[in-house]
Amino acid sequence: MSNLDLFMMLEEGGPPPKAPRIGEVHTKVALPASRLPGLDYALNPYVGCHHDCLYCYAPYVTRKPRSEWTTVLARTDLPQVLAKQIRGKKGTIGLGTVTDPYQEAERHLLITRRCLMEIIPHGLAVSALTKSDLILRDIDLYRELKGEVGITVTSVSDDLSRSLEPGAPLPGRRLEALRKLADEGLNAYALIGPLLPLLTERDIDELVEALSLTGITWAMLDRFRSRPGMFEDMASRDGGREIAQRLEKAHRTEDYRGLEMLLRRKFQERGMRCVDAF
Ligand code: SF4
Repeated sequence: MSNLDLFMMLEEGGPPPKAPRIGEVHTKVALPASRLPGLDYALNPYVGCHHDCLYCYAPYVTRKPRSEWTTVLARTDLPQVLAKQIRGKKGTIGLGTVTDPYQEAERHLLITRRCLMEIIPHGLAVSALTKSDLILRDIDLYRELKGEVGITVTSVSDDLSRSLEPGAPLPGRRLEALRKLADEGLNAYALIGPLLPLLTERDIDELVEALSLTGITWAMLDRFRSRPGMFEDMASRDGGREIAQRLEKAHRTEDYRGLEMLLRRKFQERGMRCVDAF
């Protein structure tokens, strides 16, 4: 692994807790088949993620140690490999099915952008999902693509977001990005996930109102998914013990179902459609 030693700052909301460490990894398969409903292929330009969300289950799925999740490996050769392997393929590509395609490294490396440029001539649809307003940089490309653009919003509270998603842009930037994507006429949606009982409820009315004001017409709800060892890892993080205890209790008692129904009702009252995530 060669270290590119990129040190980046978030433009707003202060610097991330630690400068991201970036390495490179080579690509064998650019478009593995996706097992997620509605997606034919998965495209993930990065391994690991600097957003560092407390609830992230991707390290446990990819078997990358949780402590190394924020050491991001960039698939710098992905656009070239994709250009060869995309020939003859049809369907929908899920962009960011495992890690965020618009984390800070992308601002400098442009791997996601170069992949989108390779996809356009082949006519496949792209379903993109991120927590970052950096996606706005690529609006020119999404205008030429079929598919949808999603931004994850878990809360409108800056404090809660900082605790849960310490390396990700704050909620206001995500909401503004949704507004711009919707203004562009793109098929934009908010992923509310994971649903965090005892946490999301705090500002549920503000969350629904803020999302409805962006102009998007639909939202996707995703439940919290635990993995063995996850609560222990979460509790060992700064400020993570209380959150881990709350989520573990909610997970045990399946409290998220009540939260899901409440959100559905509130969105429907505002004429917005709700669908289940994956
Ligand atoms: S943005 Fe997604 S992949 Fe990145 S840390 Fe958060 S949950 Fe994990």
